[in-house]
Amino acid sequence: MKGKYQVIVVGAGHAGCEAALASSRMGLKTLIITLNVDSIAIMPCNPAIGGIAKGQMVREIDAMGGEMGWITDHAGLQFKILNSSRGPAVWSPRAQCDKQLYSILMSKSLQNQKNLDILQSETTSLIVKNGKVCGVKILTGETINAESVVVTTGTFLRGSIHLGKMHFEGGRFNEKSASYFSKSLSEDAGLKLGRFKTTTTPRVNTLSIDYSKMTEQPGDEKPKPFSHFTEVESWRKNLKQLSCWLTYTNPTTHKIVGDNSNLSSIGIGEVNSKSPRYCPSIEEKIERYPEKTSHHIFVEPEGYNTNEVYLNGLYTGLPFDLQQQMINSIAGLEKAKVIRYGYAIEYDYSSPLQITKSLETKTCQNLFLAGQINGTTGYEEAASQGFVAGVNVTLKILGKNPLILKRNESYIGILIDDITTRGVDEPYRMFTSRAEYRLSIRNDNADLRLMDIGHSLGLISDKAYKKFELYRNTLNDLYNNDINNLATDQDLSPWSLETAKGEVDIYKKYEGYIEIQKKMANKIKKNEDKKIPIDFDYNKISSLSSETKQRLMQIRPLTVGQASRVHAIKPSDIAIITIYLEKQKKERKQKSNEQHNS
Ligand SMILES: Cc1cc2nc3c(=O)[nH]c(=O)nc-3n(C[C@H](O)[C@H](O)[C@H](O)COP(=O)(O)OP(=O)(O)OC[C@H]3O[C@@H](n4cnc5c(N)ncnc54)[C@H](O)[C@@H]3O)c2cc1C
Repeated sequence: MKGKYQVIVVGAGHAGCEAALASSRMGLKTLIITLNVDSIAIMPCNPAIGGIAKGQMVREIDAMGGEMGWITDHAGLQFKILNSSRGPAVWSPRAQCDKQLYSILMSKSLQNQKNLDILQSETTSLIVKNGKVCGVKILTGETINAESVVVTTGTFLRGSIHLGKMHFEGGRFNEKSASYFSKSLSEDAGLKLGRFKTTTTPRVNTLSIDYSKMTEQPGDEKPKPFSHFTEVESWRKNLKQLSCWLTYTNPTTHKIVGDNSNLSSIGIGEVNSKSPRYCPSIEEKIERYPEKTSHHIFVEPEGYNTNEVYLNGLYTGLPFDLQQQMINSIAGLEKAKVIRYGYAIEYDYSSPLQITKSLETKTCQNLFLAGQINGTTGYEEAASQGFVAGVNVTLKILGKNPLILKRNESYIGILIDDITTRGVDEPYRMFTSRAEYRLSIRNDNADLRLMDIGHSLGLISDKAYKKFELYRNTLNDLYNNDINNLATDQDLSPWSLETAKGEVDIYKKYEGYIEIQKKMANKIKKNEDKKIPIDFDYNKISSLSSETKQRLMQIRPLTVGQASRVHAIKPSDIAIITIYLEKQKKERKQKSNEQHNS
């Protein structure tokens, strides 16, 4: 093929789109290759963006000049701040989206982007010379040269769909899998691949649902957009929010599932790979929590122009007829007609221990990996990595230092640090509990943390940055009570005085706690060599989750430092263990003093 590119991005999912937009916006001639241009940035599971910790990441991508937040604002059909009854540190924006509109808007962003070409084809192999990638080969046998390649192949590499006892190839239902590329990633780029799996839920026709038996879950009265650049008032005026609904499984549902779990592709071991523990199938939930007689099912619209609704909580690999029975046992869904059935999918991923923090592979120069291929799950996790990979591929070509985000400045930094230093043994998703500095990395201050970076990369325009600087100065004025010459809403737009006052209030409320948190984080670092007895009884610490106890009892780390590197152990767990060890030490000392004195 003609035309030499500086960057080729393989895959146009959430990671690929952010990567291609970042590199082309930073001035590099970029080509994005994808299997099907009609499914660019499609959401194969719930069409919802954001949520706990994920919402913070979308705000971070937006603050640095990424696309996901802006598209969500324009494709969202319901906006909510989750955890709003708790402290601002864990407030997390979430939007239910119109699935088709999201994909259309993202495709348009790609099509309108200068320096970016789009090609529908299958990438079959990498071209690697002297340990450096220098292009790709596509299905027709043609080669396309490039200085660097970003691979974002999601669930497509040797994708295999499982439905009850049935198995067939597919990257998603009704989409072909990429069957050749894995071989090249292993043989040409030296990457070791593993298998993970994930499941999705059935979709039913809204006209067949009896909503009178469910509880309405409306959007927020004063919805907030994701993007710092969305003009709030006019956006709110144009937004027509749709409601979600809540219903529950019941003992009949559990009996149908329990009696037939041997027929599911989840339980019978035909899918040997690990699925996300945090997104379990209904089969796994019923087996794991036999004492529970019901589970939440959120009934969520998939778009303005479709009758399809998503049954959030019914992830399943049961055969079609049993899915139908299970659904019809639930209040309000007695007559529900299924349009699409749930299924499980298994795919190749590459251990993220094989990439550096810039997301470049250690085995092959100029080859970057981002998204689900790195063992993560979720649109936001994928988009975050895609953005960073797109930036870093560019910085490398330009001979500049990579962008390495720190744990104390962003969730994206935590995600990349976690996966590249600890690896993954199941699909990784983000949680607020993974953040030791969560009081200071909130969704409301993503701009204050990261917009300087976005501007220095050239991804935030000078015009937008000037507005941001005015907003930041206004925050200082408000903080210092210097209110005589405050900027007006008009000057500040799309920021506003209301936002600025809210931000200063949060800052003042948290000031003291943030200091304490910093000290605690430093203490954790200092406690690296603190010994943990080999027979330490983790069961005595009630505030540790049973999963944490299980992992630590299995591995039995000998120091706090070792414990902190155990997979899925969170900084908050380490803080709890450290405090407990200190308490035990004090008690021992006191006891020995008492014995000594008696
Ligand atoms: C059935 C199912 C259930 C899921 N359930 C959940 C869930 O419960 N929770 C959750 O958080 N996430 C879930 N996900 C995962 C979520 O969809 C992904 O995390 C997210 O889409 C990953 O983004 P990505 O950009 O890495 O890959 P994807 O969105 O998968 O995009 C990959 C892109 O690469 C392209 N591609 C692949 N191979 C090639 C090739 N060789 N040549 C050219 N193009 C190629 C594809 O066409 C596609 O455009 C689910 C996914 C599926 C399929």
